Formats: sequence, C-alpha cells, structure tokens
Amino acid sequence: MTTQMKDIYEIGEAPPLGHVPKHMYAQTIRRERFGEPKDAFQIEQVDVPPLKPDEVLVYVMAAGVNFNNVWAALGSPLDVVQLHERDDPPASFHIGGSDASGIVYAVGSEARNVKVGDHVVIHCGVWERNDPLVLAGGDPCLSASMRIWGYETNWGSFAQFCKAQDHQCLPKAPHLTWEASAASILVGATAYRMLTGWPEHAVRPGDVVLIWGGSGGLGSIAIQLVKHFGGVPVAVVSSDERGEYCKKLGAKGYINRRSFDHWGMMPHWKDTEAYNRWSQSVRAFGRALWEAIGERKNPRIVFEHPGEDTIPTSIFVCDTGGMVVICAGTSGYTATVDLRYLWMRQKRFQGSHFANDQQSAAYNELLTKGAVDPCLGQVFSFQEVGQAHQLMHENRASGGNMVCMVGAPRQGLTGLP
Ligand code: NAP
Repeated sequence: MTTQMKDIYEIGEAPPLGHVPKHMYAQTIRRERFGEPKDAFQIEQVDVPPLKPDEVLVYVMAAGVNFNNVWAALGSPLDVVQLHERDDPPASFHIGGSDASGIVYAVGSEARNVKVGDHVVIHCGVWERNDPLVLAGGDPCLSASMRIWGYETNWGSFAQFCKAQDHQCLPKAPHLTWEASAASILVGATAYRMLTGWPEHAVRPGDVVLIWGGSGGLGSIAIQLVKHFGGVPVAVVSSDERGEYCKKLGAKGYINRRSFDHWGMMPHWKDTEAYNRWSQSVRAFGRALWEAIGERKNPRIVFEHPGEDTIPTSIFVCDTGGMVVICAGTSGYTATVDLRYLWMRQKRFQGSHFANDQQSAAYNELLTKGAVDPCLGQVFSFQEVGQAHQLMHENRASGGNMVCMVGAPRQGLTGLP
C-alpha cells in the first residue's frame, strides 16, 4: 500500500491503513437521473462521511450487485434520495450498494465489534440500537427502525469508503477472494431466514422446496441451502441453460417457465372459461414439478420473490400444510389467490425480509466452512456499476451474483496485494 497522505486517492490506490482522506469517489444516483440504471449511476467526488459512535468506516475492496439498487436507479417504487434528504446530515444523492468486502479504516467511539485493519464483509440489516424492541432482545427485523443498508440508507458500497453500524460487520471468509466474499451476503442471509426462520416450516430432510428464479442471486444460494439441510430443491427458470446451472448447484430438477402461459393475476372464479384455462395450465405446471423430481410429491416450501406473476401458482402447488415464503414482488405487488386452496389445505403465506445478526452470521459461517458457494457471477469494474444493474434490470445476467471491483487492484486476491 502507498504511504503518501492525500485528500483523495484514485480507484484501486489504497490510502495508508487508518488514514481517512477528506474526499472519495462514489457512484451516485441523483433524482434528475432516475431511470435506466446504465444512466442513473454516475461517478462523482464526495466528502467521506463522519461516523456516529456505533458506526465504522470500511475501505471497500469489492461491492455486490443487488436488485434493490435497480429500484433505487429507477426511483420506483421508492424515491431513495427523498429518504436521504431527511438524514442528519442530509444528502441530495444516493450511494447504493448493500454488499461489501473490505478493510476497516475507522471505528466510532462506541464500536466494539471490529477494529482498524480487520477484513470484513457487511450484512445489510440496519436498526436503531435504542429501538425498544431491540433493547428488549426482540428480532430487530421486526422493529420499526429496521432499514436496508445501501438502499434505504446512504453511504453503501459503491464508493471507495462505506459507512455501516458495527454489528453489520462479519469476518471475511479467509479462503474467498474479495470479489467472491462481496457476492452473496444479502441474498444468502435472506434465503437463510426464509428457509430456517419460520419454525414449523424450517427445511427438513426430504422436504421438496420449489425455488423460483433458481439461477438468480437468491435462487442460486437457496438451492444450496436446501440441499445442505437435506431437502430436495427444484428450480424454476426461463431457459434450459439456466436449468442446467441449477442442477450443477444441487437442484434435483428444473421447470422451464416459458412452457406455460398462465402468469400474472389469475382470472376471477366467476369467469368460468378463463378460470378453467388457468386451472389446466397450473395443473400441468404441477405435473412438470413431479416429473422434475421423479415422484408425486408437492413442495412443503415454495421460495417466492417474483410475486404477482407467480403467486397464484405457488399457492396452488404448495403442499397441504406447507408454506409459501416471499421476500419480494419483482413482477408486481398485486398478488391474487384462490383462497379455497389456502384455507382448505391449510397453507401458510409468510412474508420475510432480510435477516438478523444471528442469521447473517450463520450464513457467513456456512460460507466460511465452504458448505455454500457464493456463486460469483460476472465481475465488473467500478466504472461499470450502472451496466451491471442494467443487465439485472433486463434479466440478462448470466447467473449467480454479480460484483463490481472497487479498491481491490485485481481479481483473485484473498488479502492484501
Ligand atoms: P436476480 O438475480 O435478478 O434473480 C431473479 C430471478 O427471478 C431471475 O433470475 C429470473 O429467473 C426470475 N424472474 C424474473 N422475473 C420473473 C417472473 N416474472 N416470473 C418468474 N421468475 C422471474 O434477483 P435476486 O437477487 O434473486 O432478487 C430477486 C428479488 O428479490 C428482487 O426483487 C430483489 O429486490 C428481492 N430481494 C429481496 C430481499 C429482501 O430481503 N426482502 C432480499 C434479496 C432480494 P428466470 O428468468 O430464469 O426464471
């Protein structure tokens, strides 16, 4: 590392350990650029932010790409800049990025979890430490103060330095490169909570689990977690190439959703003709699922995130007494359900949102032991943050979890150069 003290450093040029420059380069989103991700992100020079007592400043080596900053770039369904305008101090831009690997450069006066020089990854769960529910030992994900770092909060990982609460830091898996370790904490911890965090419906050996978007960020990790817990993962994908990728990760089989056309809000039950057409197609999907796993067994858990397009099918194919667990509505938020299948077959429809410290640490532990692969997908440069999000927006990513290099001078490094 260089020993020269400067007010700003070039991308890939690390300041001396512990030296915090005045300024940094960041990929910002501003309201006037809301729209296509390739245009919404732009590199600019900003001040390095001050720390609150429980916060830490991390020199970002690599930053993971997630769908939330596609939403941030579009400015919909949430205007994230509006959130940051109300911050203390306020900011008129958004620095996104909810996954990071990096080196701790400064710690707030009350930060106890890490010290300067630690190599860390950052999970994206933020909450007020004085929140009554948090103080009472409750699950912070259920607290009113819970936010997603680098989406609902500013100063995420698409910058030379990011700012996080100290409890968000986890030890970086020593065997993983900076880019691999930045790839999967957000989707991995989310999938971990979805599959283990709703007792009665934690994955058990032999459980069939249907996983939408099996080759995507969430799906690629969910397949491995289900397999790790002894379940039988079956993926839904939009091409055979993606299906084969899922099988390599451990899926028993896959369904190509392009073979069906009953997607979106389901017809009204009084519209008999349209309802019957829908019913035939959804039953054919159920048979395709049995074919994919080689037995007539329904999924005890359906791992959902597309939402509007797929919920009617998920509720239908879920086993009696099973659970549809959902963390997003990528295709839309208006979910329609034939309630007869929900109540008479006593199924559960469960929302789930990111993960708490314990669940994030448990996922990181599986990564560290090598029990789960982070599924590093395409790797981009810092300049290409917008292009990476554009690919995700257009569902053209080639599988796994995309990452942008920030401070790491090249790929393949597990520690300092
Ligand atoms: P991703 O890597 O882009 O993967 C999503 C997958 O969904 C795609 O690979 C695609 O696979 C599938 N898909 C897209 N449109 C679909 C549709 N209309 N019907 C069925 N499948 C569709 O994204 P991700 O990282 O897995 O994230 C997925 C969603 O979860 C995003 O909306 C994200 O914001 C959300 N999320 C929420 C949380 C949380 O804590 N609440 C955490 C992580 C992610 P095929 O085209 O191959 O089917």
